[in-house]
Amino acid sequence: MPTKRRGLLASFFLVESVSLTDRVVVVGGGPAGLMAAGRAAEEGAEVLLVEKTARLGNKLRLTGGGRANISHAGDAQATSAHLGSAGPFLSPGLTRFGPRELMAFFNERAMPTAIELDGRVFPKARNAHMVVAALRSWCLAQHVTFRYRSAVNGICVDDGRVTGVAIDALTIGGGAVVLATGGVSYPNTGSTGDGYRLAEGLGHSVVPPAPGLIPLVCSDTWVAGLAGVSLQDVMLEARQGSASLASERGDVLFTSYGLSGPATLNLSSRIGRLFERGAVAIRIDLAPDTDAGALDAALAQRFRMAGRASLGGVMRDMAPGSLTKVIIQLSGADAARPGAEISAIQRGRMAQLLKGLELHAVATRPIQEAMVTLGGVSTCEIDPETMASRLVRGLFFAGELIDIAGDSGGYNLQAAFTSGWLAGMGAARAVREPV
Ligand SMILES: Cc1cc2nc3c(=O)[nH]c(=O)nc-3n(C[C@H](O)[C@H](O)[C@H](O)COP(=O)(O)OP(=O)(O)OC[C@H]3O[C@@H](n4cnc5c(N)ncnc54)[C@H](O)[C@@H]3O)c2cc1C
Repeated sequence: MPTKRRGLLASFFLVESVSLTDRVVVVGGGPAGLMAAGRAAEEGAEVLLVEKTARLGNKLRLTGGGRANISHAGDAQATSAHLGSAGPFLSPGLTRFGPRELMAFFNERAMPTAIELDGRVFPKARNAHMVVAALRSWCLAQHVTFRYRSAVNGICVDDGRVTGVAIDALTIGGGAVVLATGGVSYPNTGSTGDGYRLAEGLGHSVVPPAPGLIPLVCSDTWVAGLAGVSLQDVMLEARQGSASLASERGDVLFTSYGLSGPATLNLSSRIGRLFERGAVAIRIDLAPDTDAGALDAALAQRFRMAGRASLGGVMRDMAPGSLTKVIIQLSGADAARPGAEISAIQRGRMAQLLKGLELHAVATRPIQEAMVTLGGVSTCEIDPETMASRLVRGLFFAGELIDIAGDSGGYNLQAAFTSGWLAGMGAARAVREPV
């Protein structure tokens, strides 16, 4: 194939060169890359999927505790509300390939899905390996070729158009390239941020990566004693100085170093970048449906009726045992004292603690432990209808590499599948009808 002008990378990698303008090369064998590859092949393109590791879907196999929470039931609007600032960007895609279409996709490919009471969608077999197997079988049936243990380290561009990818000294030709290399968390799964470097090398802006959906490290010495204690349906509020930064309602888990659990993870994605400015106060409201006055009145009544029963005993069902001890300790009261002898000031202090137990988060856990990477290729430079680069013709993006990060509950895999589906179709069209 004659070329008009060779790009910088193309001229470096000429040792073993194949040039195929009607081939789509997908970089990355995670959920986004697999969906893009199968979809492009279904649209008639010849597709090569290049994966850095020896296995497809390494991270996908870990999701949902090995059960793969692949989506969350709801329409496009409800889903996009859980994708933070990237929600509007992915909305057009979600109306075409949202949770309903994703479930139908897997149901039709021998992987029945089930919706839990809270709306989370899993494979009926609760087995993440089955998701990978279903995607792989579908790709193979569409004649997608896989190349393993191959790290793409360059995108070849000629005259503003993609011409292939480079794997060290080897170039593989392709008229369209889908970059689906994921973020930087859990690097042993293969997601090590290569896509950021490749995209930046082509002039794309990358919002700096930061950890999302990650436990918080707290400086409060009493926290370690609560490790393993879980709280259901509490309200978390994050504050810095007098400013309320974010709030989240749901379940929380105390760990030896701080806080985890779904509500903490969601909150972390909103405050993770703020630790550069200092510690973040996390207030836990253990009784979010009862206002402070009503709670104080309820405590007053309990203490009046308590007789000689100890304060610890009277408070027992207000919170898990070890947390009750901490609350009594922080209020300055004596757990062994009879409940009836507790002063109004101490009672008020306890009501305050139940409505706003304050911890001091000083950091998130390291980004390597994050369930999702915040940041990535700027959505401003990507066409939301096709996931095509607005800067380089024939280049497409999919999955966590893009600046999209969702709440926990299946939103990140849905985003990976939706963007992969769009990118696969866009890439197939790009090789069929090059502009
Ligand atoms: C422990 C854990 C649990 C999670 N649970 C859930 C859940 O239940 N529900 C949910 O919605 N989300 C969950 N997530 C998030 C979800 O797994 C990710 O958002 C999703 O996997 C992103 O898909 P992706 O295809 O964009 O990237 P990845 O899954 O990261 O895949 C990227 C692929 O690209 C390959 N690659 C990287 N660089 C190169 C290169 N240079 N050349 C070739 N290949 C390359 C990698 O080896 C990898 O296979 C979880 C994450 C973790 C870590």
